[in-house]
Amino acid sequence: MLLQRTLKNTIRCTGIGLHGGNNVYLSLRPAPENTGIVFHRIDAGGALIPARVENVVNTQLCSTIANADGVKVSTVEHLLAAFAGLGVDNAYVDLDSPEVPIMDGSAAPFVFLIQCAGIVEQRLPKQWLRIKKSISVSDEDKHASFHPCDHFRISFHIDFDHPLLSEQGVEVAVTETTFIKDISRARTFGFLKDLETLRANGLAKGGSLDNAIVIGDFRILNEGGLRYDKEFVRHKIIDAIGDLYLLGRPILGHFKGIRSGHAMNNRLMRKLLARADAWELVETNNHASFAEFAPAPAPRIRQPVAAFSI
Ligand SMILES: [Zn+2]
Repeated sequence: MLLQRTLKNTIRCTGIGLHGGNNVYLSLRPAPENTGIVFHRIDAGGALIPARVENVVNTQLCSTIANADGVKVSTVEHLLAAFAGLGVDNAYVDLDSPEVPIMDGSAAPFVFLIQCAGIVEQRLPKQWLRIKKSISVSDEDKHASFHPCDHFRISFHIDFDHPLLSEQGVEVAVTETTFIKDISRARTFGFLKDLETLRANGLAKGGSLDNAIVIGDFRILNEGGLRYDKEFVRHKIIDAIGDLYLLGRPILGHFKGIRSGHAMNNRLMRKLLARADAWELVETNNHASFAEFAPAPAPRIRQPVAAFSI
């Protein structure tokens, strides 16, 4: 039987908020079984904001969640993707800002933090959300859908009206190994002209070549180039994995996204949850195909560190 997992130790770091541009203190802490991922705004009276789809209040540029009192946390998706990819079910995330730090624009720094903190099994069985029926949403040329599948699989396709981003697609069976190796290092990206507009509107103050791929008219402005073949669509997969973890459970199903973004991912999840016949919660001891898709053990870090800063 596969058990729920949490962090072994607390780990802290600091980083820059992408939109506010301020320094953010972040701490990841162990949490009891059935807690899920819960954000904790230490600068806002200790407000707790569970990472749940019903708490999503804004999906422009990033996913923002809020509690009933309106206390918000934005840019949750890359950190949630790291928790999902490493199979962490329960954790508290302390923040002293309304924004999760952008780090290097990918999920890799969060993967590193979680690996340094270590992962431990808990007493209660892990539960998956199994897709039983296909569900889809569309908006003009954007589409997102779930389909039944005996493991977690993502297909994503993007095409932009830009020579460097004309068409790319990736399909991946998401396991701890494939997430870390093939997905987690893909950075967020933006067009130089949009960055200038965002800055003029007081957004993306912390955005730089250190935390995003910046695309000019004819070339990528980052000195080191890309980290992956098709890094752009791989980053869209990070966003999708993070957004989908707002369902509160890992998924057994196939997510397909075509030009989908945070708003469409959110619409798809809400439509799924409203259709009680389209999904069910299952545990390892009542579903035969689990053993095969059990997450790989976490890689060993030779010298665990208590804290680091980026
Ligand atoms: Zn992203």
